[in-house]
Amino acid sequence: MSITIRRGKKRASIGEYLGSLWQASLDLVFPSPMLCLVCGKKLARGMLVQLCQACLEQLPLVGESFCQLCGRPSRPSSNVHCLDCTGTKHFFLRNRAVGIYGGPLKEQIQEFKYHYNRRLCIGLGEVMGLVARQRGWIPKDAHLVAVPLHKERLEERGYNQAELLIQGIERVLPVSVLKRDCVIRRAATGASSKLGPRERRANLRGVFRVPRAGEVAGKVLCIIDDIYTTGATLDEMARTLLMAGAEAVYGLTLAIAVDDQDLLGQVQGSCGYYQS
Ligand SMILES: [Zn+2]
Ligand SMILES: [Zn+2]
Repeated sequence: MSITIRRGKKRASIGEYLGSLWQASLDLVFPSPMLCLVCGKKLARGMLVQLCQACLEQLPLVGESFCQLCGRPSRPSSNVHCLDCTGTKHFFLRNRAVGIYGGPLKEQIQEFKYHYNRRLCIGLGEVMGLVARQRGWIPKDAHLVAVPLHKERLEERGYNQAELLIQGIERVLPVSVLKRDCVIRRAATGASSKLGPRERRANLRGVFRVPRAGEVAGKVLCIIDDIYTTGATLDEMARTLLMAGAEAVYGLTLAIAVDDQDLLGQVQGSCGYYQS
């Protein structure tokens, strides 16, 4: 089976949606052989993730040089904090991003966000888990928590992509995960992608709620999301969790947006995807 990565943000038709549900139920009855979720080629023996070596090597992973606060890749000679973080007080202690939002990774994120490709999302969660393990990016004793979607958005899409990423991480790492609905999202915010950083923060203020503070109080938490753009979502959720008594809040995202497209060339080797 090969998966076509479609460009653009066009929403999938109801036919595509029903097709994905049908595929999901078929998979339960007839589990398919291990094929790469991107190109459809048979996976090599011992592969820990459902992407082949060639597709993994195409992923623009964040290299060794990045902002120590938000995880945005930087040039090796630059400061420990990026320009964004120098002017912003973050509520999260630090975020780390596995890849750069560009190239094939951007196409794959659009595929799972707008074309109902749940399995690809879980597969990229596995990649996240292995990279995080290799680089020590999930703090010891941390509980993972997905950025929640508003009820209406969840009904429209049928799944929360951050929860699917966590499912992938759980397949490759022993992690604790906070129960669903420990944090809820109050109202659907309008599209914030066109807003500047300050407007984006104002737009999100008060959007999250922790219904039962006891479920997060005293815990170290690691928020999981698909993309880090300005950090406004992560910060607002971290602020809400800290107000409810969380001890510390970290972030881990699949991708991070970069202005400097040259950084896309900075790719780290993909060792550690095989069983030792
Ligand atoms: Zn492949
Ligand atoms: Zn930064």
